[in-house]
Amino acid sequence: MSKISEIIHLGNPLLREVAKPIQKIEDPSLQNLIQELISTTIDHNGVGIAAPQVAQSLQLIIVASHPTPRYPQAPQMEPIAMINPRIVNHSGEPEKGWEGCLSVPGIRGLVPRYPQIVIEYTDIHNQVCCQELTGFVARIFQHEYDHLQGIVFLDRVESTQEMITEQEYQKLFTE
Ligand code: ZN
Repeated sequence: MSKISEIIHLGNPLLREVAKPIQKIEDPSLQNLIQELISTTIDHNGVGIAAPQVAQSLQLIIVASHPTPRYPQAPQMEPIAMINPRIVNHSGEPEKGWEGCLSVPGIRGLVPRYPQIVIEYTDIHNQVCCQELTGFVARIFQHEYDHLQGIVFLDRVESTQEMITEQEYQKLFTE
């Protein structure tokens, strides 16, 4: 497995920057970064990560949905690296769901997200991909995509009453 990267936390100004578009997909350092991000996500049992979370201001995210104790209904998929991703279209009314973030330890919040989106990104083989995402995977994408704009999920929580600690969150799903 590749090296595990250190994750930066809320308060680090790098999390608030707009990430730079990636020009050279074949660059070995980019391929290494992708492997590192995937290993870091797996190591933290996360369902996604964005390059700015490891202090790399680049438009790169990993979406890695799988069932976890926190998200037992999450669909199982191989981690996908998405380079220069964008949302082409969205549909449905935003729905609230619980989110957390490796860069915001200990806090969960209810975040409204579109239930259906059409996205475009470049894959590691330099192919442009267009995909429709729904439900939880669409939520992961919107969360990670926000990181590329310098936005964290707390910015989208509508009321501080809809923020809870990780401990209280665990109780919601074990009682
Ligand atoms: Zn996050």
